[in-house]
Amino acid sequence: MNVIQQNIEEVKRRIAEACARAGRDPSEVKLLMATKTIAPDWILQAFECGELLIGENKVQELAEKYEALSAVPHRAHFIGHLQTNKIKDVIQYADCIESVDRFDLAEKLARRLRFEDKTIDVLIQVNTSAEETKSGCAPEEALSLIKQVSAFPDLRIKGLMTIGLFSSDTEKVRACYRLLKNIQEDCIKLALPNVEMAVLSMGMSGDFEIAIEEGSTEVRVGTSIFGERVYH
Ligand SMILES: *Cc1c(COP(=O)(O)O)cnc(C)c1O
Repeated sequence: MNVIQQNIEEVKRRIAEACARAGRDPSEVKLLMATKTIAPDWILQAFECGELLIGENKVQELAEKYEALSAVPHRAHFIGHLQTNKIKDVIQYADCIESVDRFDLAEKLARRLRFEDKTIDVLIQVNTSAEETKSGCAPEEALSLIKQVSAFPDLRIKGLMTIGLFSSDTEKVRACYRLLKNIQEDCIKLALPNVEMAVLSMGMSGDFEIAIEEGSTEVRVGTSIFGERVYH
């Protein structure tokens, strides 16, 4: 086993331990490998462990790696801020867009999908940390945005995504994840047509145990698998 494969085993062990503490079944928590800045040969090594879900935050990078990864059947989620001029490309390469956070984006996505006679899975991204620099709709606007987006049958709403607060204060981080869980529960009560609320994408290398304790069903892990990212 090489370093990447050892790291994946370690991450899976941490996920299993967090699940055990929270009384959850580890099969409820998917691992998404955040592969931004990581070269395809490293990602292929990770695929050898049977982990076949990746997330990219730039459409161009997603497109550039597509060819090199295409020999291995896998799924790719888009997890970055999405500009409307990248819609045409993102729906070509991504199986799910986790970062739908505004009506005009959803509307333009739906228009393009209809034109191409396609559908795509989406998550609604919520800014649970109230940091201005972060994407995501405001928590108090989430339900109305979900209602609006649910009017587009081309977008299949599967759940919610958030990026927690970057902080060593674990209770503040936990509050972000608890807020997303509460929005999920409020949304389920509304029983909206065309809305599934099973997915809670939350938790990263530094805090995914907390996210699992608060109900995460998908953790997005980069650094703990591939090491510190090098930006060129
Ligand atoms: C990079 C990234 C991650 C993973 O972050 P790490 O701290 O490296 O695990 C998770 N979510 C999003 C949206 C990211 O862009």
